[in-house]
Order: sequence, then C-alpha cells, then structure tokens
Amino acid sequence: MFLGLWVCVVLELHFGSDVPTTMVLHALVVQHEGGGTSYTVDYDSDDGEETLKVQLFSLTGVLPENQKLVGLSDIRNGQRFLTLVEKEEEQQERTISQDPSTGISPALDLKRIAILDEELARALELEDAVHANSYPPQRAFAHTRSVREAFESELLPYFHRWAMYEDVARQNAARATLSLDELEEDALVALAREGKRDVSLAEKADAMLLQLLYWFKKSFKWVDQPDCDVCGSASVRTGMGSPTREELAFEANRVELFRCRNCKREIRFPRYNDPMKLLETRSGRCGEWANCFTLYCRALGFQTRLVLDFTDHLWTECFSSSLNRWVHLDPCEAVFDKPLLYEQGWEKKLTYVIAFGDDGIYDVTKRYTRDWNAVLLRRTKAPESVVHEVVTTLTAKARVSKSSKELELLRLRDAKELVELATTLPPGSKQIHLPGRQTGSEAWRLLRGEIGNSQDDGAAAAAEGSSSSSAGGYNNTLRVCVDEHVSKVYAALGSLLKSSEPARVTRLWRRVLEKLKSQPFKSRKELFGKGLWLKEECALPLLQALGLRRDVQETGQVLISLDGDPVVTALVMPVALQLLAYLSNELEKHISPNLNLKLLSQGRRRLSGGQTCASNEQLPLEIASAAFDGVHTTKWGEPKGAMGGWIEYRLVCDCSTSAEILVGYQITSAEDSPERDPWNWVVEGSNDGGQTWMCLDIRKGEMFEERLLKKTYEISQEKQNSYSVFRFRCLSVRDPVSQSRLQISCIDLFVK
Ligand SMILES: [Zn+2]
Repeated sequence: MFLGLWVCVVLELHFGSDVPTTMVLHALVVQHEGGGTSYTVDYDSDDGEETLKVQLFSLTGVLPENQKLVGLSDIRNGQRFLTLVEKEEEQQERTISQDPSTGISPALDLKRIAILDEELARALELEDAVHANSYPPQRAFAHTRSVREAFESELLPYFHRWAMYEDVARQNAARATLSLDELEEDALVALAREGKRDVSLAEKADAMLLQLLYWFKKSFKWVDQPDCDVCGSASVRTGMGSPTREELAFEANRVELFRCRNCKREIRFPRYNDPMKLLETRSGRCGEWANCFTLYCRALGFQTRLVLDFTDHLWTECFSSSLNRWVHLDPCEAVFDKPLLYEQGWEKKLTYVIAFGDDGIYDVTKRYTRDWNAVLLRRTKAPESVVHEVVTTLTAKARVSKSSKELELLRLRDAKELVELATTLPPGSKQIHLPGRQTGSEAWRLLRGEIGNSQDDGAAAAAEGSSSSSAGGYNNTLRVCVDEHVSKVYAALGSLLKSSEPARVTRLWRRVLEKLKSQPFKSRKELFGKGLWLKEECALPLLQALGLRRDVQETGQVLISLDGDPVVTALVMPVALQLLAYLSNELEKHISPNLNLKLLSQGRRRLSGGQTCASNEQLPLEIASAAFDGVHTTKWGEPKGAMGGWIEYRLVCDCSTSAEILVGYQITSAEDSPERDPWNWVVEGSNDGGQTWMCLDIRKGEMFEERLLKKTYEISQEKQNSYSVFRFRCLSVRDPVSQSRLQISCIDLFVK
C-alpha cells in the first residue's frame, strides 16, 4: 500500500521553487476559508479526491468528511485556486437565507459544490493526459526516495532471477529435456511445407523458436488447483502454508494449500521460482510457464527477456534475427508476436510492462498498447521520471561487466528499440492495410496476420491468437499448394498395390519407415535382412519419393540411407507412413473390389502443384493449403462454414496442364469435433476461373464414423469432363446447430 505515499503535501513557503523538479502533477493552491492560510498541494487525480482530502487534513486539521472544495475554475498564473469550505460552516450558512456577498442561495451552492467535486476530478484527469504528452515543468516531492524504493522493490526479484537463466547448469538441464534434433526437423519440415528449402540461418532460428513454443505448450501443464496425487480427485483451496526448507531451496516463497475433495489429504502447491525445479514439475500458472520457457529460450541461445505485466501476467520476448527486432512470445497461449493480444484481445488495462534481460531491464509497455495516454493515466505507482530512473539504474548495474564493444552494440540496439517503441500507432487509429510482408517464413507471417488481406486490424489479429473462434472477415487469398511430394507418394504406393502380396509389402514398408523415422533426421540409415522385396523394381518409386537410396550389400542385405536433402525425407515420411497405415487397414478388410483402393490401384493421378483459396480460414494454423498437404496433423478450418463454406483447387495456368478430368476424390475428417465434419456437399468444376460452375458430384448425409477417416468418392462417367478449377462446397456440417465451424483434414483429388 505504498501507492499513496508519494503523493504528499508541501507548504509552498517550505520548499520554494528551486527544488529539483521531477514530477508530473497538479499544483493546487488551497485557501482554508476558516483559517485564511494558503497551502500549495501537489495532487495526482489518479489517487482520487480522498487522498487530496487526507493531505488537506494533515495541513488544516479539517476532517476529510467535513471538507468541501470550491472554486474549480479559478486559475491564475497557471495555478488553480480552491477554497476549502468546512461543512460545519455550511451548516451555519444554511440558517442564512441568502449569502449577501455572492447572492447565491446556500441550497443552490451546495448542489454546485457537489457537481464541482466531480468536475474537478474530470478536469484534472484531462489535464493529466495533456501533461503526459507535453512533459511540462515538473514539481518536486519530499518522499521521492520511498516511492523509488517501493517501485524498485517490485522489480528486484525478477532482476535478480536473471542470473538463473544465465547459469550453465540450468541451461544444460533444460537442453537435456528436449530433443534439439526433433525441434530442428520440425522447424525445417514446417518451412519445407511452405516450399521453403534454402533458408537462412536466421529464418531457421526463428522457425526453431516457433517449434519450441509449440512443443513447450504441449509439454507444460496449467494448474489452477492441483489434483490429488494419491487418488487423482479434484481439490479445494484451503489457504497458504509456510515453505519447507526443500521448497525454499527452489525459491518457493509462497506455498498454496489445497485439500482433496475425496480423501481429504492436504496437497501443497509450492510456487517455485527456480526454473531448474520447473523443468521437473512442468506445471503451474503463467508465472511458472513464462519462467521455464524463458530458460529454454536462453538455453537455445536466443537473446531473451522475461516480461512482467503489472496487471498479473508474464511472458517472454526473444530477439528475432530475421525480423531484426524483439518479438513477443506467450508460452501459455502458444501465441507468437501478437503484442496487442492483451490490450485488444483480452481487454486488459495495462499499466507497466517491464522486460528483464541479461543486459538490463526495459520499459516495453508501449509495445503492448495502442492507447498510451490511457495507460499513462493508470501508471500511478511512481512518477514516470522515477520509473525511468529505476530502469536506467538497474540496467547500468546489469551492464557493469560488459566490454566497451558490447556496450556499444547494446546502445545501438536500445536506440533502435526506442525508436520502434516511440512510433507506435496513435490511439484509435486503424492499422493501415499494407501488402503482406515478403520476408520471413509463411508460418511467421501468418501468425502475424501479415499475409494477404486476412488481417482486418490489430484487434482481429490479436483475437485470433486468443484461441477464440473469432476470425477475420471474408478471405479469398490464393495460396500455393506445396503438394507434389504427396502425389509422388500416392503414385509410388499405388504401384506397390500391383505387387503379388500387397498386404505383406505394405507391412514391411511400414516397418522400414518407422525404423528410419525414429532416427536423427540428418543421418537416417538402416540395414535390412534379406530384403528381397526391397530389391524389387516396384520399391524404386517409393524410395525416390522419400529421398532414400538402396545399396545391396555383398551379404545380400539392403542398406537404406538418405539420398540427398534429409529435409525432403523428413517432409515425405509422415505422408508415406500415414498412407501405408491406411492401405494396410484397407487391405486387411479383404473387400473386393475395394472402392477405397480403386483410385490408387488403377493408377489414378493425385492432382498437385495447384493453388487454393477458400471462403475463409482459421488462421494461423488452419490455413486452406493444409487441406492439400497430405498430413493428418494439419487441417483446413472454416470459422463460419457450418452452414456453407467452400474451398477451391486451381490448376496453375500452363497451356499443357490447364485442364484435368476429375474421376474421384477422398475426404479425410479432422482429428477432433465430429460435429464440424462435412455432411452435405457438392463438388463442382469451372473452366472460366470460377465464374460459372458445373456440378460434378452431390453428397447428402455423409457420416465420418471415425476421426481421421479417409472416405473415397467417385465422379460418375457422364460428369467426367475437363476443368481447370475444382471446388468443394460444403452445404452443412454434421451439427450446424451447435457448431459454426467446418473442418477437413485432407482433400485429395484424383484425375485421369
Ligand atoms: Zn485424494
């Protein structure tokens, strides 16, 4: 409760005007009506009228409840003059019918005073906003030191914590809990899915950071109330306990206590501050999440900051070399680079957002707001000059051991960031529609809503990140489908079906690929026994599609190893494994003729290399092109598609292949929410770029009984004509009443 301490009262005579100026406040000259003495009172409207009255009480001895202030509009020489009226006097005045000096009846005057109180508060608030912008000469305060100390004391725990992130033992421990190899593989595959193969180190680093964020979100657990670790039942909060020595060793200064609703056992929830311990517990609230994630970022070599939002949230910032600036990362939400998430998405009333790093602490509030003036009005913990002083002093401390060269680099970085923070958009202004950014991977740009016209404004972009169902408006951005490798796998597996024992061959291939997949992606290599079937001719297309080679050894064994870019293999392997699993399953059914296998076994070509656009998409992850990437782990989401949504596949205009004859298609349901599955739909073809459409297929009441179920549909003979654009138009989802969304994991189109 040090809030009010710094607002203090000084007598004008006592201090005079040559006191060092530091604060942004109002100077009020208050004349005590009874005593006749004038006082100069420095008053911050954010502390409210109550504080002012307490100040006046200490000067005049008039109890706050007996004070009334009059004379709001009396401004002379830039100072506001008020008169303090004691209520006892008012009582006496009541007996007089009319004050002869003013000519106003007391009843009227009392009403006027009441209005004045409110107006005063409002007028002063307005002045605050003006002062904040113009930085006028400021006034001195007697208790600045205690205000400073109080503000600093809120920052110090985080400031001191930083040593833990730099600690080599903790960094090693963090790295030991994750597979860097898998992280790198995921990052490179994600880039490859966007068609990005030769990426810069900076791009790769950013993609790794993104994968780290996703991995962390999955590996860490949110805990509001811990479940009973004996019987697993829910618990109820009972209070706070005192930390044990063990808990204190990992800086759990606070221990929350709960009681199991079932077995009544006491459950302790120590709020550990040492990220080393969090690597083990892997649970907590945003404090624990941000703390542990910050250690991971540091351990992976990123310039990292822990960010404290005084309105009770924490997150991380990392310096992106590809973007050449600091980016926001919220591990709890797995949200990346959406600094307006809190103010516009969550409607938080931000005050101070302070970033802590190895090289200092930074007031980065401006990055997270578009309404700086409103934020300023809420920043009542300390005058801005004190905030600046604390931040600067602690930063100097943090940099004490830096070399002059490091200091110079930091100065340049700071200067650049200051410019960036100072050029935030003015309040209320809409973000201007700029062309989508051209650098950075698509995933990053999507996450920022930087691609095409899918961004409405910062608010929409921020809201997307809050995992709500809100989405941008109509979207018809054309997206390139990177799916040639998918078609290659389909073709290769189609030829496997022609072998004499397709079920056995399919099983063996699964075994081979599973073995290779479990290995580090850069050095996949395995020796297989007799492997007669691997030597067969029909094995070649699949090996080629997978970027693998076979070498028959003298012993007759077959060595399968990488043949070129390991990222190609990493990209294709999940597609192949998924399709092999599907084929095994279908082959085991012994249905003849199996419609699901017919398209493949007849050698129908899976369409690829086209472009797609959709009625809408749930960005960033449920992008339209995800419907054609051949993997179950991604899907296309249509936020408003329950009662109608469409997705097109356009052949890229090239004279030789500008039209194809669709003979069939496969639809794969998504991994969750069956009520969002397509239920009624039509498939159409167009030859004039989508102006007019021919109906090729109609389906009604199609049930996907399982998740990730692939169903096959044929186009009837008489509808098999050439088209250059195909469209899947969903008329309704399985449960359009409870759902607004449509989702599909995969769409595969097969042509003659
Ligand atoms: Zn229990």
